[in-house]
Amino acid sequence: MTRLTHFIANQDVVPASGAWLPVYEPATGTRYAEAPDGDARDVAMAVDAARAAFPAWSTTPAATRSRILLDIADRLERRVAEFAQAESRDQGKPVALARDLEIPRAAANFRYFATKILHESTECFRTDSLTSGDRALNYVLRQPRGVVGAISPWNLPLYLFTWKIAPALATGNTVVAKPSEITPYTAWMFGELCREAKLPAGVLNIVHGLGPKVGQAIVAHPAVTTITFTGGTSTGAAIAAAAAPHFKKLSLELGGKNATIVCEDVDLESALSTIVRSAFQNQGEICLCGSRILVHRARLKEFCDRFIDESRTLKVGDPTAPDTDVGAIVSRQHLEKIQSYVALAKLEGGKVACGGGVPRLLPERCRNGWFHEPTVIVGLAPNCRTATEEIFGPVVSIHGYDTHGEAVAIANGTRYGLAASIWTRDIDRAHRMAAKIDSGVVWINTWMLRDLRTPFGGMKDSGVGREGGDDAMRFFTETKNVCVGFRES
Ligand code: NAD
Repeated sequence: MTRLTHFIANQDVVPASGAWLPVYEPATGTRYAEAPDGDARDVAMAVDAARAAFPAWSTTPAATRSRILLDIADRLERRVAEFAQAESRDQGKPVALARDLEIPRAAANFRYFATKILHESTECFRTDSLTSGDRALNYVLRQPRGVVGAISPWNLPLYLFTWKIAPALATGNTVVAKPSEITPYTAWMFGELCREAKLPAGVLNIVHGLGPKVGQAIVAHPAVTTITFTGGTSTGAAIAAAAAPHFKKLSLELGGKNATIVCEDVDLESALSTIVRSAFQNQGEICLCGSRILVHRARLKEFCDRFIDESRTLKVGDPTAPDTDVGAIVSRQHLEKIQSYVALAKLEGGKVACGGGVPRLLPERCRNGWFHEPTVIVGLAPNCRTATEEIFGPVVSIHGYDTHGEAVAIANGTRYGLAASIWTRDIDRAHRMAAKIDSGVVWINTWMLRDLRTPFGGMKDSGVGREGGDDAMRFFTETKNVCVGFRES
């Protein structure tokens, strides 16, 4: 059984506690590795390493930082098959999804920020005093903030881990990062890759363990100036409360309950497969999945029939099989949460139109794994708990609406505001609806077409702040105004 280690100052470090956490393969329900059960002592060691590395890394020329980060991206791309297999075994997602999308995107995170820092500019303002002949040039410096704490979830493990680490490192910060204890494996492999790429010791440190121990210690450490967190809304609230008295800079990317709005003029022929994918990709365990489908009543029956037919064709099974569409649920506990929501949906008057349980024809290897069928629920009120709380699994509800105003009101009728998609041929209408939807991203006739230059984040209880593109560059730097006076005569 593989024993993972912390990665601190480029060394493999065993936990101070001497204790280990089990790591499971969701497809088989078996324990296959152990991760450090870290605590505040390991975090303190990692923060010390990050502090020691900061002066040199923050003054390393951008071109040198860029070269090292690009080397990391190259190495990851060369080992994409190996990382994809590991990600799939650890998380339950189909290998093909990890290989074709997520691991390449993790490399793209590094490639994008490694090259972005080569082309940065800053503002400069000429200022004339109203009362004297003084003149000035005001220019803006954006400097790295020091030690960044990066805490990430289990659903897209390496992709979201690198989404935080890449811009933090590119802008000259050093990092103490914590992957989810549920999916620590590829983060562990990633440390090795950084060492091979000769990332200087202490620039990136990876500490494994439980949120309330390791995560909390990162947030509480006085030398960690900046926290970037992706995870659940209640965890985000705890982190915000712990960080506030120390005035730490915070970026919180939290939960969602995203609406998919299908208008009466939708081109269902071309849209259907993407709408189905937006519901069930990665077992519905993507914060951007559309889990509430709002359909104009003129097309409701047709949409339900076709959506359900298409959902039934999805193959649920062994994540290693090349034709698997829906893999395993990440943990037994999470599977039970999903099952409890299907039971709740029935209590709330919903009808399970498709799926609803554990798939029957699983291969022998997966008999003890954690699986759930793609599930479609109809007949629910749009404001009930099933339709407004985050399930984060392969469960969607379909609701009818009569007017576009009503669709927007339903879309906005949850505590969340992460993402939405609108499906229509009427682009003017789509623009009007997009402007009225309270979410950080709105897709029109597409889904999950991500561009690393765009701002990413949520409104309401889906988060605070934006990352991606220029927003990430600003988040991970401190802005300073330097005013240089001069006289023209
Ligand atoms: P989680 O909040 O349980 O855990 C996320 C991370 O926080 C883990 O590494 C965990 O160990 C750590 N953590 C837990 N308690 C902590 C504490 N008190 N202090 C510091 N760290 C702590 O979330 P999860 O179950 O791993 O992930 C699923 C959630 O993440 C869903 O709600 C999903 O919507 C959200 N998510 C959001 C986005 C986004 O971009 N907005 C992306 C992916 C996932």
